Amino acid sequence: MDVAAYAAPAAKAPLGPTTISRRDVGPHDVLIEIAYSGICHSDIHQGREEWGSAIFPMVPGHEIAGIITEVGSAVTGFKIGDHAGIGCFVDSCRQCERCKAGDEQYCSVHTVLTYNSIERDGKTPTYGGYSTHIVCDEAYVLRIPENLPLDASAPLLCAGITLYDPLKRWKVGPGTRIGVMGLGGLGHMGVKLAVAMGAEVTVVSHSPGKEEDALRLGAHAFLLSSDRAAMKSARNSLHLIANTVAADIDLNPYLSLLDLDGVMALVGLPESALAIRPFTLIGGRRALAGSSIGGIAATQEMLDFCGQHDVTSDIETIAVQQVNEAWDRVVSSDVKYRFVIDTASLTD
Ligand code: NAP
Ligand code: ZN
Ligand code: ZN
Repeated sequence: MDVAAYAAPAAKAPLGPTTISRRDVGPHDVLIEIAYSGICHSDIHQGREEWGSAIFPMVPGHEIAGIITEVGSAVTGFKIGDHAGIGCFVDSCRQCERCKAGDEQYCSVHTVLTYNSIERDGKTPTYGGYSTHIVCDEAYVLRIPENLPLDASAPLLCAGITLYDPLKRWKVGPGTRIGVMGLGGLGHMGVKLAVAMGAEVTVVSHSPGKEEDALRLGAHAFLLSSDRAAMKSARNSLHLIANTVAADIDLNPYLSLLDLDGVMALVGLPESALAIRPFTLIGGRRALAGSSIGGIAATQEMLDFCGQHDVTSDIETIAVQQVNEAWDRVVSSDVKYRFVIDTASLTD
């Protein structure tokens, strides 16, 4: 099936219209008519080859929300008309211990990413959500609760799960003092989710203009990272920091915000290596950890949690023709707080 899409033809080249081919719906597959596709900063890192060599042409997009329009003969979990989503990966080996434990994103053989990746056949490139349709095995498709709007739910598929998973791992709840570094697409979801879990949330931001929004989103405090006095008086105060910053920054002053045994969970993925002063970690028995999205079961749990607590993303909806401008605005932290492409514009 040929479908309309938007692709980057080469690294750093502007995205433009194209046509891609989707496979026939197999027995275990569903066909999703994509309604909305979120723009994640990872789309930009990959489209601009900031993480190393990438596969072009690239159709980005791993925050996919839409409606099932066809199901394969052996599909049991979905029916035509269901609201469905796809996140950052569309397949994995299914056999290794990590896959069996529900950690498919860390598959020790091959996690097939939604785009900029190769299918398990070893040759077919994957294409993401900046397109009108996608075919995927039902085992890697998520149910979007019917009470949530599809447009504002799309960012849950990456930004939502990327914060939900570390919040659960480090047992965020009532009594937890958590800092969210960077109020962007991921960060604003982190604030909403941590507030819904009952935690006390501090936003740590380099943008003075975001204080009002941080508090509106439910944060209890706002810390401007350039305010040295405020950063100093907040030292040793936080149990957990979710670091979503997409740029190269000095982490040491932020690590000092952690209380004894506090953990900084890195989810932001800037290009450069980090320079950590050992004294900063050792002095407070602090830990620096990493976290990558979440597995299929955890992602479904996150979506169900969002359905129960009415948590969705604050979005700015755009036509696909505005995508290049939107990418530049994401890089300059000028989005409140996630761009979502209305994929109907692909056929305009
Ligand atoms: P985003 O919307 O651009 O948000 C990043 C935020 O970082 C900005 O809003 C800004 O917040 C802060 N920031 C930007 N430049 C900064 C600077 N020079 N100094 C300090 N803070 C700065 O991006 P996103 O889509 O949320 O993604 C964030 C990062 O996470 C990206 O690197 C992305 O690739 C990565 N990511 C990782 C995973 C994973 O599984 N680990 C999943 C998805 C994305 P303030 O204005 O509030 O400072
Ligand atoms: Zn993402
Ligand atoms: Zn595996």
